[in-house]
Amino acid sequence: MPHRHPFRRPLLRRRPPPHPAVPPPRRPLAPRARRALTRANNLMEGGQFTQAATIFGRLSEGAKRRGLLVRAANLSLQASRAHFAAGDVEAALVRAKNGLRLLVRSDRAGRASYVLSKMTAALREKGYNAQANQLEQETAQMLEAMGLSLDEARRQVPQVTEKRGSLPANCAGCGAPLLPDEVEWHDAHTAECIYCGAVIKTR
Ligand SMILES: [Zn+2]
Repeated sequence: MPHRHPFRRPLLRRRPPPHPAVPPPRRPLAPRARRALTRANNLMEGGQFTQAATIFGRLSEGAKRRGLLVRAANLSLQASRAHFAAGDVEAALVRAKNGLRLLVRSDRAGRASYVLSKMTAALREKGYNAQANQLEQETAQMLEAMGLSLDEARRQVPQVTEKRGSLPANCAGCGAPLLPDEVEWHDAHTAECIYCGAVIKTR
């Protein structure tokens, strides 16, 4: 008779659909939050990383309270990058884990694994190998709770195949730098800022 591993829960949960089956709710940022976000982006550009991190963190918590989990995730990850740039690795890891958890819970496993690979590379480059391994392990556990392995999540990374227009350097809504793999693409010529929700037309 086959017997079940005592600690392994049966995977009854249906596998989450691959990105982008669940688009984030499109809600524009409130004017006050937009001003704070613009300020944080300016602080990042000016090298004032700790102050920027505080604002990104606060905005992430605000988005989470409003139920905007994907936006909260992206803002938390931005807070993490700001802490990391300021040299505060512990604070960066706290925000990174929070952001990754929110992504996994929002059915963004592919996105989570992509962000994870970038973050662990940045950590290892600075010699934080143990921290990188731990972040990888904890993300794998978050995914496992959703019935996915890290390898399966990696296969869900959205692939850009068709030709896309080029993005302006910064978001007109909040000033965030715009990179092709850091925006939400609606189609080949339309993207959305993951921080403020502004719709961006490519050139
Ligand atoms: Zn924006």
